[in-house]
Amino acid sequence: AAQGPTPTTRANTVSRAPWAAYAVLGALLAAYFVSLIVRREDQQSQLLDGWLVAIFEVTAGGLCLVRALGPRRGRAIPLVVGLGLFAWAIGDLLLTAESAGGARPPTPSPADAFYLAFYPLMYSALVLLMRRQVRKLAPATWMDGLVAGLGAAGVCACFAFNTILHTAGGDAAAVATNVAYPIGDVLLLMLVVGGTAVLPGRRSRQWLLLAGACALNAVGDTYNLFQAALGDSHVGTVINGIAWPTSILAISISVWLRPSGSSLVPERAAGFLLPGLGACAGLAILFVGGLHGVGPVALALATATLVTVGIRMGLSMRRLRSLTEKRHRQAVTDELTGLGNRRQMFGILDGFFADQADVRTPERHLAFLFVDLDHFKEINDSFGHSAGDQLLRQLGPRLLSTLRSTDVLVRVGGDELGVIVMDNDAEYAVTVAERLTAKLKEPFVLDEVSVRISASIGIARAPADAVDSAALLRCADLAMYRAKLAATAFEVYRPDLDDGGNRLRLVEELRAAVDNGAFVLHFQPQVDLRSGDLCAVEALLRWPHPRLGMVPPLDFLPLAEEAGLMQRLTTLVLDRALAQCAAWQTGGRRLPVAVNVSVTDLLDPGFIDLVTGLLARHQLPSSSLTIEITETTIIRDFEACMVVIAQLRERGLGVSIDDFGAGFTSLAYLRNLAVSELKLDRTFITGLTGEGDGRDVALVRATIELGHALGLRVVAEGIEDRATLDLLSGVGCDVAQGYFISRPMPADDLVLRRPRRVIAARRAVA
Ligand code: C2E
Ligand code: CA
Ligand code: CA
Repeated sequence: AAQGPTPTTRANTVSRAPWAAYAVLGALLAAYFVSLIVRREDQQSQLLDGWLVAIFEVTAGGLCLVRALGPRRGRAIPLVVGLGLFAWAIGDLLLTAESAGGARPPTPSPADAFYLAFYPLMYSALVLLMRRQVRKLAPATWMDGLVAGLGAAGVCACFAFNTILHTAGGDAAAVATNVAYPIGDVLLLMLVVGGTAVLPGRRSRQWLLLAGACALNAVGDTYNLFQAALGDSHVGTVINGIAWPTSILAISISVWLRPSGSSLVPERAAGFLLPGLGACAGLAILFVGGLHGVGPVALALATATLVTVGIRMGLSMRRLRSLTEKRHRQAVTDELTGLGNRRQMFGILDGFFADQADVRTPERHLAFLFVDLDHFKEINDSFGHSAGDQLLRQLGPRLLSTLRSTDVLVRVGGDELGVIVMDNDAEYAVTVAERLTAKLKEPFVLDEVSVRISASIGIARAPADAVDSAALLRCADLAMYRAKLAATAFEVYRPDLDDGGNRLRLVEELRAAVDNGAFVLHFQPQVDLRSGDLCAVEALLRWPHPRLGMVPPLDFLPLAEEAGLMQRLTTLVLDRALAQCAAWQTGGRRLPVAVNVSVTDLLDPGFIDLVTGLLARHQLPSSSLTIEITETTIIRDFEACMVVIAQLRERGLGVSIDDFGAGFTSLAYLRNLAVSELKLDRTFITGLTGEGDGRDVALVRATIELGHALGLRVVAEGIEDRATLDLLSGVGCDVAQGYFISRPMPADDLVLRRPRRVIAARRAVA
């Protein structure tokens, strides 16, 4: 498969050519070095030491320019370096021509102009190379480079300028020319050392070679000055003769080395060695300068070194301080929301309790509000985590606007927030809770959707409720839990209900009550909005407690669930409710009952048999019982609930989705549920007639229409006034329930006639 050279091999051949040339130049340089050593002083040859060296340098410069003809990117450095080398080589050629036949060239001579042009070109090359390797350096790092460079320059100046002052003579132009070289060298050395100091870990081979060669050049120059002052020696001649061509060859080679791009990962910090040496050099020069006559240039450079050290230390201190502040801020800030985090919360609370433990401090009061968003997980599940994050981010600014500057809002974690309110009575904490609730009600506009959320808030106070942070948090958490279960916006901690010891006792009392059936059922009427007639009742459980009075269901149902008493309790409620229904039936009144069941009841394998068995025992048609299940619990185990609901419906029972709208059941879900009734969540209904923007009404109307489209009966509960009742009957709601019509009450107190208020409402609508 001989196909001739492939493009790659050709490229390789091309890229190898300059190295061959450099090999030849290197060999020539070595030979020249040997010749310098073996030759005697008087055997200097103008051809060899003058013309051939100059031609050698021209070749090296030329090779640089060849590199500049290469790929477009990265041409600048070879071009600048090549021109610099060319300038130097032409200087050499001119000097050789000027000193032909042993003539002494004038100072300044045309050769000087070319020699001196070398410096600015090399500075540019070094700066370009440095810039390519570091995009961004901290000011302190630049200062480190400056310190190292100034120190090195100071040391160089110590020797160079001193000597110049001793040897310089002639007119102003001659002195200026003679001084220009050491200045050029000092600057070159400064750049090389400074650059090397700021490029730790980034120093490429290219930089090291170029920098080393420039340093060699500067050292060669300085040595040359010395020699001029101290007289010739053989070693001096050899060093003098070899330093320049070597440095020029190395500089030329450096442009062919592969440049390294700037690194994207953070490099290790610049070391302190070179800047440290620079600072020491500055100190030493100033110290020695006091004793011996060190030149003013060296003294000035040394002073500049130490001034830079001072500025650099100032910068470091400032950076250190701002870093410390930043670290502290980060440690107490929640990354997502920018609010304070748990650590900040505990910092404030612990500080408060520590203060209170000290008898000398006056007693202060603090309230802690534990805010837990309702159904936040469903937002994450339905709209994605980024939507959830967005919502959390919007929370901070929104809630902060309702707080005083002294109140602290923190994100305790997840969807939990905390508010610390200092030096205020419990009433103020309640006001804060109300304001937060109102603020949360406004919809949150996320990327594609607008969602409404609510929160449950638990309030605990110190020192009344707790004497340390953890206990305070537990109290607030318990109150919050109660708020969540009761679907109220907030609850204040109550030791009689929330306290751990009491809880255990309560569980035991509850167990005994279940054993004894010591519960009562209250019934709340539901009214048909078309006819105004009483059409059903909802059975609501009550626990008459010897010590606590009538305990509402949400205060003990969670306990029953925890203690595994739920099934027995539900059986008891179903049995009593159906017994009451049968009693009404016997009295000639057909009044279906609705019974609330928890999802554990519903998913119990014996549930269907239990219900049908009880209906049969009370000789009731299955249409006299409606099972209410809350929307949010259905979602938790949708598939299983769907199956049981379908089975209940097949047997002719009614199934209602309770508190509909509190969760985020999508319409598609709803279609798959064989329910017969939607019960709008109370939060929709309360505030419907208040000062709103009409959007709430539109939402309720749309939900009712949706329910009707799916063939469902729509019930509105929580109706507390006439306006709401009128409004709901106006938007087509089927059934109404609420304190305005009747509170839940014992069966015996129930008025089974058409409620008078509803008749009035019907008339108002008509
Ligand atoms: P729910 O099923 O949503 O019951 C409606 C609740 O709203 C009842 O509270 C009722 O008294 C109250 N309510 C009725 N009309 C109004 C009104 O106009 N304004 C206001 N603010 N509230 C009104 P209750 O009786 O405390 O029951 C609370 C919850 O306890 C019920 O919510 C239900 O989820 C649960 N529950 C009640 N009885 C039972 C039961 O026997 N078994 C189960 N599993 N849960 C029950
Ligand atoms: Ca209910
Ligand atoms: Ca409800």
